[in-house]
Amino acid sequence: MSTEAKQSTKKKKKDAPKLLRGFKDTMPEDQKYWEFVLSAVYKAARDYGFSYIETPVLEESRLFERSVGETSDIVSKELFRFNLPTPEDSDEVGVEVALRPEGTASVMRAYLEHGMINQPQPVKVWYWMSMFRYERPQAGRYRQHNQFGFEILGDTTPLIDAQLIIMVYSLYRSLGLDVVIPINSMGDPDCRPGYLNALSEFLGTKSKLLCEDCRKRAKKNPLRVLDCKQETCHEAVADAPQILDFLCEPCKDHFVSVLEYLDELDVPYALSPHLARGLDYYTRTTFEVYIKKNDQEEGGKLHAIGGGGRYDGLAENIGGREVPGTGMAAGIERIILALKENNIPVPSIHKRDIFIAQLGNEAKRKALRLFEEMRGRGWSVAESFSKDGLSAQLERANKLGVQFTLILGQKEILDGTVIIRDMSSGIQEEVNYTKLFTELEKRLAQPTVAKVLLDEQNPEEQEADMEDAGEEETTHKSEPQLFEDHNHGKEVDTD
Ligand code: AMP
Repeated sequence: MSTEAKQSTKKKKKDAPKLLRGFKDTMPEDQKYWEFVLSAVYKAARDYGFSYIETPVLEESRLFERSVGETSDIVSKELFRFNLPTPEDSDEVGVEVALRPEGTASVMRAYLEHGMINQPQPVKVWYWMSMFRYERPQAGRYRQHNQFGFEILGDTTPLIDAQLIIMVYSLYRSLGLDVVIPINSMGDPDCRPGYLNALSEFLGTKSKLLCEDCRKRAKKNPLRVLDCKQETCHEAVADAPQILDFLCEPCKDHFVSVLEYLDELDVPYALSPHLARGLDYYTRTTFEVYIKKNDQEEGGKLHAIGGGGRYDGLAENIGGREVPGTGMAAGIERIILALKENNIPVPSIHKRDIFIAQLGNEAKRKALRLFEEMRGRGWSVAESFSKDGLSAQLERANKLGVQFTLILGQKEILDGTVIIRDMSSGIQEEVNYTKLFTELEKRLAQPTVAKVLLDEQNPEEQEADMEDAGEEETTHKSEPQLFEDHNHGKEVDTD
């Protein structure tokens, strides 16, 4: 290579584009965590009757200004905003848009725009979407993160709020996370102004302790001071008035009912009279979700792994008709972080029953066909066709935790046989190729050393492993068919 060429390669390397600050790649080794959380969310959605919804990444900025609130951190500091270019030869004016920072406002916009009010109420939807907030990056705080969320639109009853919290609690429990749920009421337009006045007055006496932003917020939107992330502001509001003392009768009744329903199911909530959440649209019930153990250890400074509440005024704020609603959203990266920190066993996604090993060109071809046939018939099967040596293939089979490896070599091709190797005992047996599926079925039905070991595992691990195996069990029931069917009735010759 010429010196010039070398220099240009060097330069290219140096200038290679890098991951943006505050963004992250989700890597294959984390896939099992994502699948674990997604399967729990799917199950909750199915159990509680939610349907999937997905809204665009881009929305008009004013959607979030009117819902999350112009004085909230999310809108005033963290929105990724820009103007859409005006198309050439068009009178269309470039619209100011924003990358969505949260899901509820968009879901409500979709509900209003699609006339979902005409469907039987409440409408229950869930989502799994990326959110964008231009925040100062730190552990567990990204500029692009993913949330799943559940929204129940068109219902005012406290039972709905409580059932949402019960669902959320059981979802976190099903992930093996021990959580606590701080809860508060935000009142409604009748009683909240009285509280805001009292809070504003109180904050006036603390203005020296407040950050610059909060000094402004104290007059404009004092609730936002309650969720300011600055330590001094946090301390300043420690003995601020509590909204619960200002609630009107209907709000008080609503809140008491929610708590009674939660008591009915022993949901571990904690009354949290200064919980305000960082978004303006909440009315009445508001809650967050924290990991119990770490929360105590870190003195409550840990990031929330979920939060939500009721938002009866949201639809009107964004310019629609009155639609009550209640919902929650959870940060998926933070949940995955918590699963790792708490060493929660997560089922392997690569677990298989059978591995196909091959030696030689003829065997490769036959193994390729066998893999497709078995996979197509619902067998749980793995391979490593790019490897040639048997030991490398057996090593891979061991890593995947398969029960049996099928070995196809030159000799087996000539004899019309295949070797079945029991991976836990190492015992190998040669069987006639045409009897392969029947033999495998017999063996998979027998308790193997692996299954005996599984029975001795602790129940949590077992549950995780069984979840993986559950689907596969049913797939073995169908009568195995040999290659003849694949080859239009002709017997496949094994040489
Ligand atoms: P919020 O609507 O702000 O309550 O966000 C809902 C959930 O999303 C929070 O409880 C967090 O778990 C998660 N979350 C919020 N912001 C971030 C962020 N910048 N990075 C990662 N997760 C976040």
